[in-house]
Amino acid sequence: MNLELSAEQTAARQLAKDFTDREITPYATAWDRAEQVDRGIVKKLGDLGFLGLTVPEEYGGSGGDHLSYVLVTEELGRGDSSVRGIVSVSLGLVAKTVAAWGDEEQKRAWLPRLTSGEAVGCFGLTEPGTGSDAANLTTRAVRDGDSYVIDGAKMFITNGTWADVVLLFARTGDAPGHQGISAFLVPADSPGLERREIHGKLGLRGQATAELVLDGVRVPAAAMLGPEGKGFSVAMSALAKGRMSVAAGCVGIAQAALDAALGYAGEREQFGKPIARHQLVQELISDIAVDVDAARLLTWRVADLIDRGEPFVTAASKAKLFASEAAVRAAGNALQVFGGYGYIDEYPVGKLLRDARVMTLYEGTSQIQKLVIGRALTGVSAF
Ligand code: FAD
Repeated sequence: MNLELSAEQTAARQLAKDFTDREITPYATAWDRAEQVDRGIVKKLGDLGFLGLTVPEEYGGSGGDHLSYVLVTEELGRGDSSVRGIVSVSLGLVAKTVAAWGDEEQKRAWLPRLTSGEAVGCFGLTEPGTGSDAANLTTRAVRDGDSYVIDGAKMFITNGTWADVVLLFARTGDAPGHQGISAFLVPADSPGLERREIHGKLGLRGQATAELVLDGVRVPAAAMLGPEGKGFSVAMSALAKGRMSVAAGCVGIAQAALDAALGYAGEREQFGKPIARHQLVQELISDIAVDVDAARLLTWRVADLIDRGEPFVTAASKAKLFASEAAVRAAGNALQVFGGYGYIDEYPVGKLLRDARVMTLYEGTSQIQKLVIGRALTGVSAF
């Protein structure tokens, strides 16, 4: 892998860095306290092309390669994981999946709106009773003439109350496990679809996370995304690339932890000198720095594999597993550098730790990533 960034990649990174420093970082604490990001950020992200990265220009996307996408995601994650998550889901899990699996009509209907920020997407896989074991989901879509009628519930859906379209996974046949699942593009204003915001989250407080309840929601048969019975493949293909996006967000958190720790250690004095001159503080800082580099290199490798058309699924699980645990460690180490001041939200590190924690849980917990990696290495599924 060539680690030297191209002129386009450097420009994308710089654009995202400037945007983050100007439009996100100054507001992140206030959004966290208010439990809501300013919704105007979505349009701004769309205007800069950040909601259309890797989506072909003919569908309103801004094109670009996956390494550029990772670089932009790192920067957004450095500013606020709640904003980063809006992009990771609306673009990473929804728009990119419509681009990969949609027919012409579906692409024309949704991609220009999603990539411009006019519409927001959400990804409805998890249910109250099935998280890691997603293949056993119970939401059901029954064919009725030219329509499907959907009943069920979805849990912990990022962008849930903001979304205009739900990429929803439901059982369409009697085939057991993943074979009976199909994917649908469900307009969020469909009659019978109720969205309940979930409050009291440990982190990602600025993000709208919701429970979705579907009671006789009717969609045209043409709303099915991909072939009938292939919905689980649709979901897994989305999540494989999604894990790269989560990993990039974790690199951003770890980088923010490093920046904050370095700044504070140079200013804060104890025992007559800046704490940066105490060896054990340097240990905390160097541990963060190694985590940043290692997480970044694993994440960039996934993007490089995708851009070269190589298999990347196991590499994405490794990057997500390591980067998410590294982000938690890095934010915890940064909080230690801040001492008691790290524990109040006047300083950024407590929020970094709270936001990092969910990264080891969603899009496959750390345990699930280990099972994916273990299956690839041994050839034996231990799920
Ligand atoms: P469970 O699956 O019940 O797991 C509980 C524990 O058991 C975990 O430690 C897990 O690792 C362990 N475990 C389970 N199975 C095994 C096994 N076979 N071997 C070893 N250990 C195992 N979902 C969506 O579909 N769309 C979203 O947009 C979305 N956004 C989210 C946002 C937030 C803030 C959160 C918290 C969650 C979100 N999720 C979303 C759901 C998320 O993906 C699930 O929470 C996650 O997959 C874990 O499922 P669960 O919570 O049901 O935990």
